[in-house]
Amino acid sequence: MKEVYDVIIIGGGPTGSTLATFLSRAGHRVLVLEKEKFPREHIGESMLPFCYDIFEELGVLDGMKANFTRKPGVTFANIDGSRSSHWCFSRVINGPQSLSFHARRSEFDELLLNNSRKAGAEVREEMQVTKVELGQPGDNAMVYVQSRQGEALTFEGRFLLDASGQDCFMPRMLRNQKPFSRLNIRLALSSHWKNARLDETLSNGNIRIVHIGGEKLGWIWMIPLKDDRLSVGLALNMNYAQEQRKILSKEHGAREWQQALYLQELNTSPLVMSILGEAEMYWDVVSNGDYSYYAEQKYGHNFAIVGDSAAFLDPIFSSGIYLGMVAAKMVAEGVDKILRGNDYSAVEKAYADMDGGYKVIEELICTFYEPNSIALSDLQDNGNFSYDKFESAYSILHLLLAGDFFKEPERYLRAINTLRSQEMIDKYKSLTGHLDAKMEQKVCLMPEMQ
Ligand SMILES: Cc1cc2nc3c(=O)[nH]c(=O)nc-3n(C[C@H](O)[C@H](O)[C@H](O)COP(=O)(O)OP(=O)(O)OC[C@H]3O[C@@H](n4cnc5c(N)ncnc54)[C@H](O)[C@@H]3O)c2cc1C
Repeated sequence: MKEVYDVIIIGGGPTGSTLATFLSRAGHRVLVLEKEKFPREHIGESMLPFCYDIFEELGVLDGMKANFTRKPGVTFANIDGSRSSHWCFSRVINGPQSLSFHARRSEFDELLLNNSRKAGAEVREEMQVTKVELGQPGDNAMVYVQSRQGEALTFEGRFLLDASGQDCFMPRMLRNQKPFSRLNIRLALSSHWKNARLDETLSNGNIRIVHIGGEKLGWIWMIPLKDDRLSVGLALNMNYAQEQRKILSKEHGAREWQQALYLQELNTSPLVMSILGEAEMYWDVVSNGDYSYYAEQKYGHNFAIVGDSAAFLDPIFSSGIYLGMVAAKMVAEGVDKILRGNDYSAVEKAYADMDGGYKVIEELICTFYEPNSIALSDLQDNGNFSYDKFESAYSILHLLLAGDFFKEPERYLRAINTLRSQEMIDKYKSLTGHLDAKMEQKVCLMPEMQ
């Protein structure tokens, strides 16, 4: 007789493996189908402090501490580095959670996936889901798979979770994907570098974001990883990238134009070049589109869509992994209730909470690109803030950069609004911490390793 799983999960990234661990622990029979063989490389290496508690709950905190770089904060800079500001999580978060992580994704994703195996999930790699039949209410889901060895297999599950990342398996199948209309399409180009000359900010573990203004509407990230590895990425407005493509592909060829564009734009920043100096790339540039989208219908009688497959927002604030994992935790609790008693209330609440958080992040992203907003690199601590009381927009912005998206969306939206126009900036100068005079900057101190 054919076996029926309680839950089948498409994708073994951070979202899929988190779903698998929580649902296996709740006593369900879980199958994860992953098309790749891990370890595999993936974009998205800098994590928010709000992930910390989930790592602890999953039981991977020791593995995280042993294997990955610690991240005390975020540093924003303008293109030449003449203005920069350090956002230190320990100003608003007490305790070990203030020290986050950067991780090479091949190792991080494998750690989480192996952890879900330990929790009891059956994980089958090199298995690509090609078709799904959901049936009518009361039916199980039928999942059709092609193995890398060429075998065609069918699995049956009481509930199906789509955590297929930007492949967006179910939204494509249901044809219900929509763009976040206020966000532009961007192209991201990235690589890892060796022999970079890390400055104090990067040596100390901060991610550095360099803002590129004008028509390029973009930014450069620098993420210090272990073993002499600096991840350097470039995100650019797609219209600008396409114009450059026409010019650069004549000189460099149809395939090499992306690498040429990447190096051209890094070269425009004296700050970035002072760090890359004689550094070399580990591999040729990798390209990722970061089209922002959401699925209009995210769950139904026997399925739910979670993580990047459900929605993706411009990655400027490093929110993706946290959003995927926190949604996985909430949805896993909800699916447990559905499987035990047909109770959909927790899943409904999980998606309503997630929508509130996405609105806050969307607003923050729009503000970052808005030419009339105050640049984050120009905001800094003038020493007069009481972070403990969280009363100022400045401390709220620290909390947002740490991942506090869900607690008080309305209040946080108001705080973001204070950055949006000169009138608001003037009105709320004391609230935002905006300074006209240039102050000496201090890097985030690395709290004692915890
Ligand atoms: C340019 C850029 C920079 C980013 N930087 C950051 C950052 O610094 N910090 C951060 O937190 N986030 C960042 N992100 C976002 C981050 O990469 C994602 O949010 C995160 O990986 C989402 O996890 P996931 O598990 O939902 O999807 P994924 O990690 O993409 O995992 C999905 C898995 O599903 C598998 N799969 C897909 N289709 C199928 C199928 N049909 N059958 C079987 N398996 C399948 C894939 O092989 C993959 O392993 C960035 C994104 C971009 C584009």
